[in-house]
Amino acid sequence: MSLFPHVRFLISVASVEQFPNEPGNEVAFAGRSNSGKSSAINAIVQRNALARTSKTPGRTKLLNFFELAPGQRIIDLPGYGYAQASPVERAQWTRLIEVLPERENLVGLFLIIDIRRGITAQDEQLVEWAAAAGWQVHLLLTKSDKLNQRERAAALKTAQARLAEGMTAQIFSAHDRTGVNEAQGRLLAMLSNKES
Ligand code: GDP
Repeated sequence: MSLFPHVRFLISVASVEQFPNEPGNEVAFAGRSNSGKSSAINAIVQRNALARTSKTPGRTKLLNFFELAPGQRIIDLPGYGYAQASPVERAQWTRLIEVLPERENLVGLFLIIDIRRGITAQDEQLVEWAAAAGWQVHLLLTKSDKLNQRERAAALKTAQARLAEGMTAQIFSAHDRTGVNEAQGRLLAMLSNKES
């Protein structure tokens, strides 16, 4: 049975001014372009094409809100680290990063990392930014099906060593569904953690 039977796309917004004004808790999903973020969201909320798997990395400029249940939402943030990003796109990202911490509904960050690539400098900045905002942080080391057991364990250990206390990381694969249950549990715990 689906954990999120009533999941639905809520709204796409181009700027923070257009954010929905509704009570409840939100968890943001962030990651480099092509990290597997859309696939991870689809696997976690059990909908095949909820977050459209982008075929053009970095071209998804809008923030997409999805409602999992009344008062529980996820925000799909634009992918970052796209080499061909224009100065305007970079400025939009910077502004987003500056204003998101003001959003009281936000309680957590899911950071999607391609397990073969590991944590980049930009990922690390986001972790620090989320910690400063007081959000919970959970890392999904995705595409784990591309590594063997030993390599996965090593990648998880390396990532965990770079996290501050209270932050968590796990191995994940949207393709073979490794870690989907764990990610769902972590997401639900974050969303029900704090009433706003
Ligand atoms: P996004 O740009 O971060 O939203 O990433 P996508 O979800 O669109 O995925 C980018 C590419 O990685 C696509 O070609 C996906 O098929 C592939 N991909 C995503 N998740 C996985 C995974 O768990 N395993 C493997 N092997 N490939 C994946």
